[in-house]
Amino acid sequence: MTNFPLLSNHQRTNHEVMAPSPQYSLIIPVFNEEKSIPELYRRMQQVMDSLDGTVELILVNDGSSDRTLSLLRELQAQDSRVCYLSFARNFGHQVAVSAGLNYARGLVVVILDADLQDPPELIPELIDRWREGYQVVYAQRTKRHQESWSKRLPAYIFYRVLKNLADVDIPTDTGDFCLLDRMVVDVLNEMPERDRYLRGLRSWVGFQQTAVFYERDPRYAGEVKYTFGKSLTLAINGLVSFSKIPLRLSTYIGLAASIAAIFMGILILYWRLQIPGSPLTGFATIMIGIFFLGAVQLVSIGILGEYVGRIYEQVKGRPLYILSEVAGFKSLEKYAPDQEKFREKYKEESKEK
Ligand code: UDP
Ligand code: MG
Repeated sequence: MTNFPLLSNHQRTNHEVMAPSPQYSLIIPVFNEEKSIPELYRRMQQVMDSLDGTVELILVNDGSSDRTLSLLRELQAQDSRVCYLSFARNFGHQVAVSAGLNYARGLVVVILDADLQDPPELIPELIDRWREGYQVVYAQRTKRHQESWSKRLPAYIFYRVLKNLADVDIPTDTGDFCLLDRMVVDVLNEMPERDRYLRGLRSWVGFQQTAVFYERDPRYAGEVKYTFGKSLTLAINGLVSFSKIPLRLSTYIGLAASIAAIFMGILILYWRLQIPGSPLTGFATIMIGIFFLGAVQLVSIGILGEYVGRIYEQVKGRPLYILSEVAGFKSLEKYAPDQEKFREKYKEESKEK
């Protein structure tokens, strides 16, 4: 990672932040979204036309196996505002958004989903709040239309657990749909962490933040791309990245169990001494005790493993993503320094062979 001090190059005065003609970057990660893309582009086009500044629409193809990439190529050929990044394989939604942030050049950056669950028509409202002086404007769901209970209930519980455990105040029911000022994007780009739980990082950075409320529409077309496994991984990432309380949990349970053990010891001694001939069988109690403590130990090792595994991934220092195709960006030099360095190194190595 480059090591220049945060913000020093980018600090702007309030006056500049409220400049009337900013350049907007709109980032959309796409993974097998061939059915949504035409309608997405139609609605994005209307929004882009209505904005008062220059716009770039950054589509990040997260290793799609359908016609997504060829649709992006077509869009890019017909509209110079469209640029795209294409990953060599599926790296996941959070990484796709991070790549978009690396390449975005706008003074204002907006992140939204490709399936039109985040209505593009809300973008002007987000921008209005930015003009009022907010650097982070996140869209908060008041309702989720036509989403199953199996998705809504775990999400509902998770956001509330996270809010209680996390070191920073992460607002409930907010996804990645948000607007970020350039200052915030620069800070996020400088963060070296691999497990990028963006809605947490977005809260962590601070600045002036506000919410815009909206009702989340159903997915426009196609299947949900966030499978249960991916959602669970994201949730664990959120918890592990923003809280050390799970690590302490085994200490607490261990302490409680040792206190219980001392009491049990005293109780048994009392029975033996005071009640002559007491049978004191308790086979079931012993089995439950053994299984319970065994389970607690295994879960504790598992929790520890979550943290250690993340240290391992971080230390390996592999690039966050590999690009196989990039198009439509006017200048690439300043952005994604790691990616470019990796590309140069790779080229040199191939030449040597
Ligand atoms: N997505 C992605 N990579 C993935 C999974 C999803 O880029 O591995 C994109 C997907 O194309 C969509 C967004 O992330 O634009 C949200 O995905 P989805 O709508 O399936 O999730 P949900 O609405 O359930 O959060
Ligand atoms: Mg969706």
